[in-house]
Amino acid sequence: MRTPIMAANWKMHKTVPETMAFLDTFMPLVRDLPQDREIIIAPPFTSLETVSRALLGRKNISVGAQNMHFEEQGAFTGEISPLMLSDLRVKWVILGHSERRHVFGEEDELIAKKITSALAHDIKPIFCIGETLEEREAGKTLDVLQSQLAAGLGNVSDERMADVVIAYEPVWAIGTGKTATPAQAQEAHEAVRAWVSQHFNSGIAEQIRILYGGSVKPGNVEELMALEDVDGALVGGAALDPESFAEIATCSI
Ligand code: PEP
Repeated sequence: MRTPIMAANWKMHKTVPETMAFLDTFMPLVRDLPQDREIIIAPPFTSLETVSRALLGRKNISVGAQNMHFEEQGAFTGEISPLMLSDLRVKWVILGHSERRHVFGEEDELIAKKITSALAHDIKPIFCIGETLEEREAGKTLDVLQSQLAAGLGNVSDERMADVVIAYEPVWAIGTGKTATPAQAQEAHEAVRAWVSQHFNSGIAEQIRILYGGSVKPGNVEELMALEDVDGALVGGAALDPESFAEIATCSI
């Protein structure tokens, strides 16, 4: 019912020649990708054009950006606007990633503006939320998720919610090799869907895709995908290697 999404977040990895080498190996491996899923590759800005061009004509593989400014243009040195992304046929943008929140100090209010702007420009946001280890150990996980959801999606209309994807990424599981247990992942995803049902409606909650992120690899993706409320994965480290990401992308669901 909900088409699964397998998304690669390359972070600050791969030059243009390295991107081309990845695509040379990856594309043949996903030639017969089952139609029941979508793949997204989010390279650094400098490789967007290369990925975008390689994916021309591929219906269920598309390109995403890892960040975006909410304004269309202006005196914002070092930033990239939604118009610039659309120009490169970028369909998705990762917003609120834990590295943006915790390394670059992005706060809920800024992330909310970016989500609204992405939707207004027909770029679908992959909105990341997740608790720190300290918050989990203090028993605050669901409160943190609910507060991030309320802040990020407060200005989104029912109609636009169809274009939103939520990624639950426990901060303590990103890039650490630690994965949430199936029970921890399911509990969080179920709570996110319940929040969407309460603040939008049950139809939207049934349709919205909620990805899990945090040390997903070929060896654990199927166990995570078997969970009722997990609709895909946002993959960092294991998506840098074409064979490993192809294995994740084509895993049995
Ligand atoms: C991420 O960057 O969103 C991520 C989940 O990274 P990793 O898979 O390396 O934990």
